[in-house]
Amino acid sequence: MKFIEKLLRIVHYSQISTKITIIYTLCFLALLTLTNALAWYGVYYALYQQAERTLVYSMENTKKLLEKLEQNANIDVNSIRDPLVAGVVLRVVDDKGRVFIDTDSHYPTVEQFDENIIKDPPFWTNDDMEVAQFTRAIVYRAKMNFTHDNETVTLQFFRTITAQMDFFDKLKNILLTVDVIGLLFAMGTGYIISRKILRPISTMTKTAQDIAIENMNTRIPVNPVNDELADLANTFNNMLNRLQVGITQQQQFVSNASHELRTPVTVIRGYSDVLARWGSTDPEIFKESVEAIQSETENMQQLIEQLLFLARSDQNRQPLNMQPLELSELVEDVFHKMRKTTHTHEIKMIRNEVATVFADKVTMRQMLRIFLENAVKYTPEGGTVTVDSARDGDYIKLSVSDTGIGIAKEHQSRIFERFFRVNASGSEHKVSGTGLGLSIAKWVADQHNSKIELSSELGKGTTISVIIPIYH
Ligand code: ADP
Repeated sequence: MKFIEKLLRIVHYSQISTKITIIYTLCFLALLTLTNALAWYGVYYALYQQAERTLVYSMENTKKLLEKLEQNANIDVNSIRDPLVAGVVLRVVDDKGRVFIDTDSHYPTVEQFDENIIKDPPFWTNDDMEVAQFTRAIVYRAKMNFTHDNETVTLQFFRTITAQMDFFDKLKNILLTVDVIGLLFAMGTGYIISRKILRPISTMTKTAQDIAIENMNTRIPVNPVNDELADLANTFNNMLNRLQVGITQQQQFVSNASHELRTPVTVIRGYSDVLARWGSTDPEIFKESVEAIQSETENMQQLIEQLLFLARSDQNRQPLNMQPLELSELVEDVFHKMRKTTHTHEIKMIRNEVATVFADKVTMRQMLRIFLENAVKYTPEGGTVTVDSARDGDYIKLSVSDTGIGIAKEHQSRIFERFFRVNASGSEHKVSGTGLGLSIAKWVADQHNSKIELSSELGKGTTISVIIPIYH
């Protein structure tokens, strides 16, 4: 029992290929045992059947002969041998147990047979017959009574299957040899096939070990088949692709952020140097430097806040307090504040329809401010910024339009990318910005199951709308 437990534990912790080989071999062994047993019993059964049939046939023939004998007393008693099938021995025994006809005197005697009778013969043995087991032979016996002139004799028919026993020995050897060869073959093929099938897994393990952040280009070779291992390899490769894209974006983000931070820091340093040298003596330089430093610090602060926002949103850590919100109140509030602080542009409202949305107030406000600030930033002084919020079926469409510089067709799909800014250096309209505002607005819209639409024409103006589902 202990040994089996130990063996099972070894198998449990062994490699899959070893397990497959063992299972394969065991199945093969079970199949071999079954076929052997069937062959064995089949042959045995056939031999018993054959012996039984010869005995029955001999008995029937003898019976007919005896009937004739009764009618015609002239028939020779010795002719009793004639109806016997080859191999069948007949003994006629009287009621005192004396044998007075014996067709083969070398055969085991009736007493010897009686001593060696098997108590539990195989189940296929005829119930009317008896079986005796000798060292090298099995003997079958059938009995028949015959009464003549008030005298009863017993006819005992014997049939041996000695010759067939040799055949059994041969059969045993053949089966054993075939079994051993079969088992070795099963073990060999089981091992080779399982190794071959599982080879891609070893390759995968090796590839996974080789992959590092600096070396993300390695991929698992995928066999052109449609099996589970190819699926696994494809899934693994796809995962690597996604990771690689993510890591590249991350690296790009870090490098862009550092780049963006460098400009204000350089400006601040420049002005602080100027301040240190001439600030105390020249009030004009003092004023200009301090203003520049203040403005750059503000820019930097905004940039850092936006960066932090995106970092939090990437990690799903940006808190969102979603609740039913009256959008018109929020629009009204942001609109008024904007109008109060902006004196360079005309800010108008067309409609502000009542609608409840399920939203986070803070980020919703942030999105609306981004649209309004952009509209003002990218519209020359004296231009108009228009807010329009109108219901459309189950949605509310909140639009901010301007009469500004517009966005060229080729840039329209890119303005939602992080750090993307239309290069304004060529134009006379230079404004400060980070290129992060619209990517934040896009994230907020996504979180509210809302869609952003953009329509813009260069030199004419831009309309940016967000379509928010109404909360019922
Ligand atoms: P920022 O405004 O800080 O540069 P945004 O992500 O808000 O960054 O905008 C990305 C770019 O899209 C801007 O740099 C600008 O070129 C363009 N853009 C955004 N809004 C407008 C607008 N209303 N009119 C024209 N261009 C705009």
